[in-house]
Amino acid sequence: MELKGKKVLVVGLGKSGLAAALFLRHKGAQVTVSDIRSAESLAKEIPALLDEGINVEAGGHGLLTFRRQDLIVVSPGVPLNTPELVQAKSFGRPVIGELELAARFLKGRILAITGSNGKTTTTALAGEILKEAGYPILVAGNIGVPVIGLIDESTDDSWSVLEVSSFQLESTEEFHPRIAVILNITPDHLDRHGSFENYALAKERIFAKQDAGDCLVLNADNARTAEAAARTHASVYWFSAKHEVKQGAWVENGNVVYRSGPDAGPDAAIETILSVAKIPLKGMHNVENVLAAVCAARLAGVPANLIARAVEKFQAVEHRLEFVATVNGVEFYNDSKATNVDATAKAVAAFPGGIHLILGGKDKGSDYSELAPLLRERVRAVYTIGAAAAKIESQLRGAVTIRSCGTLATAVSAAVVEARPGDVVLLAPACSSFDQFENYEHRGNVFKQLVAEQKDWKLNENV
Ligand code: ADP
Repeated sequence: MELKGKKVLVVGLGKSGLAAALFLRHKGAQVTVSDIRSAESLAKEIPALLDEGINVEAGGHGLLTFRRQDLIVVSPGVPLNTPELVQAKSFGRPVIGELELAARFLKGRILAITGSNGKTTTTALAGEILKEAGYPILVAGNIGVPVIGLIDESTDDSWSVLEVSSFQLESTEEFHPRIAVILNITPDHLDRHGSFENYALAKERIFAKQDAGDCLVLNADNARTAEAAARTHASVYWFSAKHEVKQGAWVENGNVVYRSGPDAGPDAAIETILSVAKIPLKGMHNVENVLAAVCAARLAGVPANLIARAVEKFQAVEHRLEFVATVNGVEFYNDSKATNVDATAKAVAAFPGGIHLILGGKDKGSDYSELAPLLRERVRAVYTIGAAAAKIESQLRGAVTIRSCGTLATAVSAAVVEARPGDVVLLAPACSSFDQFENYEHRGNVFKQLVAEQKDWKLNENV
């Protein structure tokens, strides 16, 4: 792809937009960046861009800006149905995302992981396993490091372990992973994709360019994910926490086991990778993540003993069912990244009962009533916060005791008053955070701070 002298517009100045703009400029393109945020709110980024000779359009998109380009690169935060983009496309302008741009330059092989939940955990774990095996690896994508930033480091021998979201996949064309993983497809981001099926189809783009020499790892226990097997040209491998699979990873007699394909001759024997008891993460959903990572790592050629070693050392990624503290016999867990109903259900299912659950934030068009049976069984009370509180309360009324708290601080105090020794206070809000917080990390950090304050108050009692 020749970029020298080309006019390129980067839409959206997030982390990956910024990385894309700098990359394009270093390749000799005439780059313009357009963002709807005001110049004041981009004050940190703008001087660095201007210094590099990149034009900046802040506070909105000019139609002409979009028409005059040879290529448009869209950040994952910008919906593809933004009118200016739709119009530019109708004028024949090529529109791609940062992931697609990066994929055209990245050397070596790609292991790409998508799913509604578990991407970051599984990507981090798969990266650790490949590292344990001494592979030259690069870990990037939705996990917080733009893929485009890895290009200079990539070599023909490297493995890029990439977390890819539906927003990033939506605008891919040539993206071609050697191994692709779909962890699960459950409702999320319906506000942006319009329908569950559109969202699922965006995820399926992960294997659009794969062929018979590639591998696709699918969750046999998730109906919408399993359907993808009928549409791929890649060799399908499965993982299941519930039953044996033909080729792939599953749980048998308390062990994670793996079997390669039926054509693999002697290798087709069942290998024991590690005992489930040795997985240092809570919840069946994390067993699923381990199964997916095991399957991908075996396909990449990592021996069983090295996989086991890396899994046993792995710690929960911050804000993913992260243990915070025990105060007066009550355990506090921060699962601020549980921003959809399925992630919350998995977090609740990770504890046998006695749960005080903090729910709420910005609604994403979710149906919270799906949680009702599980909450009835395991949750002592729900503490609602944020903009989605009224919807959550109306959908869960009658199933569980509800306390309207408004803010996270009130919710934590109320839960502390009600919780008894042996109980769990769980922040797993099923909503995004943007109504009251900068992002889910901010929400999780505020929660941890509030717990620390409770700890200080009770210090003389029994921490
Ligand atoms: P993602 O990157 O897809 O958002 P994370 O690893 O960051 O995934 O986890 C997001 C949320 O989903 C967390 O609340 C986590 O506890 C939960 N989670 C992790 N793995 C799974 C899974 N396999 N199925 C359902 N929920 C999961």
